[in-house]
Amino acid sequence: ALIITDECINCDVCEPECPNGAISAGEEIYVIDPNLCTECVGHFDEPQCQQVCPVDCIPLDPEREETREELMQKYHLITAA
Ligand code: SF4
Ligand code: SF4
Repeated sequence: ALIITDECINCDVCEPECPNGAISAGEEIYVIDPNLCTECVGHFDEPQCQQVCPVDCIPLDPEREETREELMQKYHLITAA
């Protein structure tokens, strides 16, 4: 999963781009629900939020490293729900 760092300027550009609805406005900055973030696997070749973020503040979360297979599994779980 990806994570939004505190460099987020709350511009709201990323939220509508997420195909999994994983991004929302948190108390101070925007946040990604790691259980819904597939790194866009299953939908797009590249993480869409990273593509649009003007301040480049959405890196991979080192605490939530997942293989492509795990991400694809998550995608199937989400789309089956
Ligand atoms: Fe959503 Fe894709 Fe960004 Fe994950 S990488 S938060 S699935 S837009
Ligand atoms: Fe924050 Fe970047 Fe999303 Fe804008 S696009 S709300 S700066 S994470």
